[in-house]
Amino acid sequence: MTIYNFSAGPAVLPKEVLQQAQAEMLDWHGSGMSVMEMSHRGKEFMGIAAEAEADLRELMAIPANYKVLFLQGGASQQFAMIPMNLLRGKASADYLNTGEWSKKAISEAKKYGAVNVVATSADKNFSYVPDFSAWRCDADAAYLHFTPNETIGGVEFNWLPDAGSVPLVADMSSCILSRPIDVSKYGLIYAGAQKNIGPAGLTIVIVREDLIGEVVAGTPTMLDYKTHADNDSMYNTPPTYGIYIAGLVFKMLKRNGGIAAMEQTNIAKANLLYAAIDASNGFYNCPVAIDNRSRMNIPFTLKDAALDGAFVKQAEARGLLQLKGHRSVGGMRASIYNAMPLAGVAALVEFMNEFAANNG
Ligand code: PMP
Repeated sequence: MTIYNFSAGPAVLPKEVLQQAQAEMLDWHGSGMSVMEMSHRGKEFMGIAAEAEADLRELMAIPANYKVLFLQGGASQQFAMIPMNLLRGKASADYLNTGEWSKKAISEAKKYGAVNVVATSADKNFSYVPDFSAWRCDADAAYLHFTPNETIGGVEFNWLPDAGSVPLVADMSSCILSRPIDVSKYGLIYAGAQKNIGPAGLTIVIVREDLIGEVVAGTPTMLDYKTHADNDSMYNTPPTYGIYIAGLVFKMLKRNGGIAAMEQTNIAKANLLYAAIDASNGFYNCPVAIDNRSRMNIPFTLKDAALDGAFVKQAEARGLLQLKGHRSVGGMRASIYNAMPLAGVAALVEFMNEFAANNG
């Protein structure tokens, strides 16, 4: 039976990448070592890291005045590092609140400065992105932070806020590499690796150089972007195996037409699943505003929540795993990141149609 893993993260990885890692596990390119065993300062690993960075720069067309940092601590650590590094003497930062991850970023930032919440979708249970005309931005804010894809709520931006000269900061944990973006429009982009990039333990930060170097007093060395920028992310031991796998994922994307091609597949997958939900005569429902439906994380409820348990159980029996929704939302959630094949979504849709017919 083919297994399809719909986990929100850590999540499915491309099979060809896992197979390559398996083939290279005991002896990387004739070195006689696994990548896990290599010194991070040896020529083999330095080459792996440099190539991973170069490939990511090429894939995302990252301008030369941006640093690419390979860090640890997850996106959650960025919730603190961003205000510590980017407040730069300013009194406050702007934050948009579109759900669970926005809220976490906001509460952490409040430890370091004032937070101005420019808009919130709390009035409709975080099911949409507030129209930009309703945002109350501060022209003197240190930066404007938003979450382009809320992993739990399944709410995704399909437009880019215009913050003027205020640096735009985006938590791209669950949408990085899923669609082309213009990096030059951002001050800082960050993402935990465990969804679209590679294994957990690696966090990628892409930051404009001029924003680096002025931290709040007392910032630990390890939480200062300058430490990592000045040392090519090798100030201390980086998450070497995670960087290696990420590098294999980047190469795979390059072989397959890059991010633009990936986006087309992602659109096809999301359309297939939303169409099934919308055609179910209310048996399934997605609570998210149509324009803000995520291509990556698709939450849906069943008409009768008493059927949730049977749905999950029967799906598992068909090899469709990890569909239970986040505990804060309930219902189901299908995460269909880059590495989820169209065939996986088709198998899910086939099961959903059958389940609805049998229980409608
Ligand atoms: N932001 C978003 C949008 C996420 O989806 C997640 C993880 N699900 C996080 C932040 C937290 O990431 P981490 O577990 O890497 O700290």
